[in-house]
Amino acid sequence: MSLRIVVCVKYVPDATGDRKFADDLTVDRDDVDGLLSELDEYAVEQALQIAEEADDAEVTVLTVGPEDAKDALRKALSMGADKAVHVEDDDLHGTDVMGTSLVLAKAIEKTGYDVVIAGMASTDGTMGVLPAILAERLGVPQVTLLSEVKIEDGKVTGRRDGDSASEQLEASLPAVVSVTDQSGEARYPSFKGIMAAKKKPVESLELDDLDIDADEVGLAGAWTAVDSAAERPARTAGTIVKDEGEGGKQLAGFLAEQKFI
Ligand SMILES: Cc1cc2nc3c(=O)[nH]c(=O)nc-3n(C[C@H](O)[C@H](O)[C@H](O)COP(=O)(O)OP(=O)(O)OC[C@H]3O[C@@H](n4cnc5c(N)ncnc54)[C@H](O)[C@@H]3O)c2cc1C
Repeated sequence: MSLRIVVCVKYVPDATGDRKFADDLTVDRDDVDGLLSELDEYAVEQALQIAEEADDAEVTVLTVGPEDAKDALRKALSMGADKAVHVEDDDLHGTDVMGTSLVLAKAIEKTGYDVVIAGMASTDGTMGVLPAILAERLGVPQVTLLSEVKIEDGKVTGRRDGDSASEQLEASLPAVVSVTDQSGEARYPSFKGIMAAKKKPVESLELDDLDIDADEVGLAGAWTAVDSAAERPARTAGTIVKDEGEGGKQLAGFLAEQKFI
């Protein structure tokens, strides 16, 4: 039977653009360009490598996000994924990690899976907890933050590199995996891949399709709330130290004054 791999990919505001909060203190996603989170490209890459090793495998990419999030799905499809699932619903506005993990879990159960692969963190929210919450919701083992991952004989194995030691981990399938930016460079989509992606299926789902009530998600269902946000102060000109023999001392004095040393 085919190995069913689901990759969770997030459409995020471009970090090089000007990012702002909207009036309700949610991230303003309308006035900024977005893209597939770079950290999720590593997850797509590992899924494709696992699929290439397996005799028979299917890679589905899944996102919860606004209409434009289809761009993230298209990029993953052009890298080589087989099909995509897009969960989009007006009631998702303001959903936090608890709601997002609920929606992803229900969509994954509906799609069917043997292994779920996620990134180590998104480049906007950067909570890094979603894969663990997802595993709990699905009731399957989690093998997170892997810099090397393999699937063989109904098991996922991998290496997690810490500051002082590396761990070798193993779990039976089905399981949730997350991979780090050390797991291997993500491939660039080829021209052929970009053309092929236009014809690959993208299934659209709403909350009703997943039996999720509006009050379980959105700002009302969120477990976290942003109380206030302020504009970052404008940059000041800074202090220039001219070295005329006493530069080192002046630098040390400046750092001490600022309480850096
Ligand atoms: C329209 C909309 C509005 C939102 N508004 C808010 C808000 O106001 N406040 C708030 O806290 N959150 C909001 N969210 C959810 C938020 O953007 C995150 O998806 C969620 O909080 C997870 O946190 P994270 O990105 O820090 O997860 P992390 O734990 O850092 O993510 C780890 C991995 O989980 C996967 N992942 C994360 N998010 C998604 C996703 N959406 N789809 C597919 N895979 C994913 C990726 O593989 C990622 O690498 C909103 C989402 C949508 C779609």
